[in-house]
Amino acid sequence: MSKVLSSTIGYPRIGGKREWKRALESFWNGAINEEELLQKTTAIRLDNLKKQQDLGVDLIPVGDFSLYDHVLDTSVMFGVVPTRFNYKSGPVPLSTYFDIARGNKDAVASEMTKWFNTNYHYIVPELEGVRPRLVENRPLAFYQEAKEKLNIDGKPVILGPITYVKLAKSFGEEHFVQLVEQFTPLYIQVLSELAEAGATWVQIDEPILTSELTVEEFAQVEKTYAAIADAVPQLKIILQTYFEKISNYEQVSALPVHALGVDFVHGASLEQLKTNGFPKDKVLAAGVVDGRNVWRADLDEKVALLDEIQKYVDADRLIVQPSATLLHVPVSTEPEAKLAPIIKGGLSFADEKLTEIVVLTRGILEGQDAIVSELTTSREALAALNHSKYRQNAALKETIAKLTDKDVNRSLPFAERIKVQEARFNLPLLPTTTIGSLPQTPEVRQTRSKWRKGDITNEAYEQFIKDQIDKWIAIQEEIDIDVLVHGEFERTDMVEYFGEKFDGFAVSEFGWVQSYGSRCVKPPLILGDVSFSEPITVKESVYAQSLTTKPVKGMLTGPVTILNWSFVRDDIPRYDVLNQIALALREEIEALETNGIRMIQVDEPALREGLPLDQRKREAYLEAAVYAFRLSTSSVQDDTQIHTHMCYSEFNNIIDSISALDADVISIETSRSHGEIIGAFEDNTYDKEIGLGVYDIHSPRVPSKEEMIQNINRALKIIQPTQFWINPDCGLKTRKEAETIEGLKVMVEAAKEVRASQLVAAKG
Ligand code: GLN
Ligand code: ZN
Repeated sequence: MSKVLSSTIGYPRIGGKREWKRALESFWNGAINEEELLQKTTAIRLDNLKKQQDLGVDLIPVGDFSLYDHVLDTSVMFGVVPTRFNYKSGPVPLSTYFDIARGNKDAVASEMTKWFNTNYHYIVPELEGVRPRLVENRPLAFYQEAKEKLNIDGKPVILGPITYVKLAKSFGEEHFVQLVEQFTPLYIQVLSELAEAGATWVQIDEPILTSELTVEEFAQVEKTYAAIADAVPQLKIILQTYFEKISNYEQVSALPVHALGVDFVHGASLEQLKTNGFPKDKVLAAGVVDGRNVWRADLDEKVALLDEIQKYVDADRLIVQPSATLLHVPVSTEPEAKLAPIIKGGLSFADEKLTEIVVLTRGILEGQDAIVSELTTSREALAALNHSKYRQNAALKETIAKLTDKDVNRSLPFAERIKVQEARFNLPLLPTTTIGSLPQTPEVRQTRSKWRKGDITNEAYEQFIKDQIDKWIAIQEEIDIDVLVHGEFERTDMVEYFGEKFDGFAVSEFGWVQSYGSRCVKPPLILGDVSFSEPITVKESVYAQSLTTKPVKGMLTGPVTILNWSFVRDDIPRYDVLNQIALALREEIEALETNGIRMIQVDEPALREGLPLDQRKREAYLEAAVYAFRLSTSSVQDDTQIHTHMCYSEFNNIIDSISALDADVISIETSRSHGEIIGAFEDNTYDKEIGLGVYDIHSPRVPSKEEMIQNINRALKIIQPTQFWINPDCGLKTRKEAETIEGLKVMVEAAKEVRASQLVAAKG
């Protein structure tokens, strides 16, 4: 290599207007056939490549595209198909591919789980009992396609063997070594065929190298990469890491690969470089532009960073690239016509990031003078945003500076305030409730979209929401649920709904990113100081409460979840933004309380996933999360009851933090992992009230009363009946009305039966 190159790690699959999603869903519902699907998605893929070519990126990734998920792609490439899908041999048919991801009438889908600390979900490989073999060299096909169609000499991207096996369904450590051994020759075959076809650069993604591996595991890493180097010495392999600094840096940087990809945005990689230097014989692919966020890069700062890096690596052994694949950011800011120019000017989605990369590369190649105008533009755009009204809330700063312990503590400890709450609500033993949302029928969604387009008036829409609330309060009363909800019919998304209404947020029109399969989310942009301007949820909650004498829970999204599911400004510390959100929510909670809503649920489904990858950052995160939650919820009266909800079950290592939230009642998703979660409560230090989901809402199946009773009784072995609530796993918005009503009926019957037997037992 003789000069610095620009590169990118991966590009969004979904198309500028989510054409990808539409193509997939039309195929799934039978509107188009397989051939048409492939035509449409090929067009999107080639379009994506063409764009990167036009933007002037030197190393363009191929094979990062997917029809669902790149981990699943890796599985099917190696014929890793769970036996329940009846796959025999040869390339895995597309129908089987989608069945693994989505299930079919005979077989449940493979599990899906979050990809590192992102909101992207991958399909967990099931390696048990399958014998992997190379059934289709996918990267090769993509490499050839790019070459033939666009004359691009692409850089094939492959998920590496270590990360792939590590992310598979858990098995013992010995098994890890065996499995990697099994996969190594298959990877070699893939790479040899690529080399034969003329590929020069290949990117092997091993993000797992940012986490700690055992000595035995690392020995296997060395063995595998030595074998690869031996087999395909002609390939320029980039061993790509991201999301954190490399763990075991000295060993990883000594692996026999041509280049090492390092994230210089998330984690102390620069310090690592300063301490340990960089091997003279390697190329450094430096991730300098944030691939996880949407803000325009401060090019001056990036130039300085690259200068610093060049003290350890010569320019001719440098690749400039984003910190991660651009899969996690939206495609382009260009179609955003509604954002204020100052906001739009401060944004940088995938295409703009690639331009930044190309400019920075040119700066190294031709000298800074060559990029003066770009540097000026960047400087001016950022200054405009920084000095704008959005970031000048001095009063807020002062409020935060003046916070004291009192602001994050309820006035009475739980043991005492629960007594006043019991007196106020007078609920039966084992009270029943739901998590908040009720079925969002096509009618609900269509009506909202009509209203958004201006096809129906505000009044008509409000009346429609009221009618839904009327209907469902009646249904809940009829079923005899103890604590009711208004149903969240007015919300599409639990974060966007608040994002649209707090100051300091903006919502883009096309800022979609893939979450799982064809499902995309549009995270709100937290671009300024966050504050409360007017009540958000009071109207619907108060209306619902006016219809019944039973308590109706107010329903809010918690500060940590709002933070984790948004794109957060990066000019001030993240936890400062968190506290601003918490204060805004505190005002909302106070407004609910003032208006007679005395049970308020503050959902934190994203608390767990925000846990930093680096162990050493976890404590600070959990502290900040607990602080913010308490800041939101501590100003209420003793007899106002705070609920929270979480939908994950790996609780063991965060149970103390969960307890420290000091919520009076917590509901948790548990149906799919009952044993695990109950284990977490085994030592019985959790003293507050708790509802473990007694039925899985992700499936249309309504469990029998006996099953629910069994779930309840299992929990009651560990948790006191006086502490226990009965609720479904999570919100019911994706369920159909009939199955929801049926499920809730069964749940209430089950609760009543257990309640009766508990009362008998207590008397006897
Ligand atoms: N209250 C929300 C609902 O019921 C909670 C959603 C969630 O936990 N993800 O939909
Ligand atoms: Zn949930």
